[in-house]
Amino acid sequence: MHLKSLTLKGFKSFPDRTRLEFGSGVSVIVGPNGSGKSNVTDAVLWALGEQSPLAVRGASMQDVIFGGGRGVQARNAAEVELVLDNGEGSELYPMSEISIQRRLDRSGDGEYRLNGARCRLVDVLEVLSDTGLGKEMHSVVSQGRIEAIVTSKPRDRRLLIEEAAGLGKHRKRRRRAQLKLERTQDNLDRALDVEREAR
Ligand code: ATP
Repeated sequence: MHLKSLTLKGFKSFPDRTRLEFGSGVSVIVGPNGSGKSNVTDAVLWALGEQSPLAVRGASMQDVIFGGGRGVQARNAAEVELVLDNGEGSELYPMSEISIQRRLDRSGDGEYRLNGARCRLVDVLEVLSDTGLGKEMHSVVSQGRIEAIVTSKPRDRRLLIEEAAGLGKHRKRRRRAQLKLERTQDNLDRALDVEREAR
């Protein structure tokens, strides 16, 4: 699966509709300091459902909306559309392309769309969960993060590699199953106590 295109409108330093197309292989975005390169990766993260304003370098989520500058008026809403190549489609999502759209206006109202149809954030996360592109999948590595990875302890680095290899979701499932087992054991112990008392 690869990112085919990214369309931004009213997002950070992109007041007007701007479409970036990506071929397969490596794409490089170059530009002077402050020209908006990191805003492009912020847009990817945001469209994937990022909920923390800090992760997209803002104090509040509305900070992603173009705030005006250089004679261009502020916008009332930010919109990002991300189109992913889905190959021959998956069981969950049989389409060859997946379009994910996110919109937020200044009043705080927002919406997500999957291939044009309005949906909930959980639906977006569900579609992404098996693609390796979810927000916890390290598909976006921010500046400074690389240094943190290089200098991290071997155990932490192993966790990162496991996440990237898709083991993270199995780890979470195992943890959920363990908690369920513990709860079941507690219930069993209680039932045995009651039985013993009744004897
Ligand atoms: P560097 O190479 O220094 O890391 P960069 O190319 O990655 O820079 P960004 O950090 O993506 O640049 O963009 C910074 C620019 O985006 C700043 O000029 C900032 O004013 C502008 N910007 C960020 N948020 C908004 C917003 N909500 N409205 C208007 N402009 C914004």
